[in-house]
Amino acid sequence: GQCITHCPVGALHERDDTQKVFEALADEDKITVVQIAPAVRAAWGEELGLSRDFATVNRLVSTLRRMGFDYIFDTNFTADLTIMEEGSEFLEKLKNKENEKFPMFTSCCPGWIRFMKTQYPDMVDQLSTAKSPQQMFGAIAKSYYAELLNVDPSRIFCVSIMPCTAKKYECDVSVLNDAGAGQDVDVVLTTREVVRMIRAEHIVPETLEEEEFDTPLGISSGAAVIFGATGGVMEAALRTAYYLVTNENPDPDAFKEVRGKKGWKEAIFDLDGNKIRVAVASGLGNTRRLIEAIRNGEVEYDFVEIMACPGGCAGGGGQPIKDGVELAEERAEVLYGLDKINNIRFSHENPAIIKCYEDYLGKPLSHRSHKLLHTDQRKWELDTLFKKI
Ligand code: SF4
Repeated sequence: GQCITHCPVGALHERDDTQKVFEALADEDKITVVQIAPAVRAAWGEELGLSRDFATVNRLVSTLRRMGFDYIFDTNFTADLTIMEEGSEFLEKLKNKENEKFPMFTSCCPGWIRFMKTQYPDMVDQLSTAKSPQQMFGAIAKSYYAELLNVDPSRIFCVSIMPCTAKKYECDVSVLNDAGAGQDVDVVLTTREVVRMIRAEHIVPETLEEEEFDTPLGISSGAAVIFGATGGVMEAALRTAYYLVTNENPDPDAFKEVRGKKGWKEAIFDLDGNKIRVAVASGLGNTRRLIEAIRNGEVEYDFVEIMACPGGCAGGGGQPIKDGVELAEERAEVLYGLDKINNIRFSHENPAIIKCYEDYLGKPLSHRSHKLLHTDQRKWELDTLFKKI
């Protein structure tokens, strides 16, 4: 995990993009919109010497406001959107079982996508077509949100704060950018870079009160925040898939068997009489063992979540580093705690997501959803994605 030398794209020195963000903040024509990834909130205070109780995401919101961002939003909003799209995609595939290949694999981790494309190119069609929450966020910010603000999408400058160095390259892949205003996301900062910016601006978070995210792209569920831990995407997807199939909510903790630090987990859940076999792996060594077992016919699954970093994004290559200490598990605990106290535990109950579908997207997998939120995984050119390393 969190050691940069474990970075799944092998980038020993990350590209520093802080200057680009300072320039955008100083440009009066640009409307700067920033999104904060789930795993970042569990780690940003570590390097600043802040306690976990103090370094909340709402204090990061006030810190970023001092820095001059115009709108401060949450990647968790589009994590909920990802669940609506990817959950619906999975259920469509189940309906058409004879003609589809299983398992379907999650597609939100660029380190994993690269691994799949280089090592197992014949399986690329089994990846979900859903873009990652980071990319969906950019697409929505430059379409739906531009419309709400009544501004030309080209004025929106979209910054992400990610636990991940690979996300910098994900945002450069041009085929993913369909919003009609350049790239979905303009610049990705790692957690470490944002800490450097806080220091450079002499902002002292200790002196700031907590502030709320802006709306509507700052509203999110507890299902979204657990995306930052291994097993979280699967759990969130199952909560919503259960609802979509039965029209009733499950116990929000019904799928917690997929939590925990084990590198390869599996479970079978009942979805209205259908047995759904799921697996979750993190770390590329575990991933290889899992894929080989699938290819050798030793295991069979319907839905598989893969994260390249051990422990998932909580232990990502862009997070603060403390020599010799693995913090992924401790950070994951923070995320599960945030899920537990959220009033909304299901992506399909996020009122801002419901409204976004009502007013703009129509429904999951609609024509507009496909155009903005999905991608042709075959067209993701690897050399485009990684030539800059
Ligand atoms: Fe990035 Fe998360 Fe994948 Fe690691 S697990 S490469 S942090 S998306």
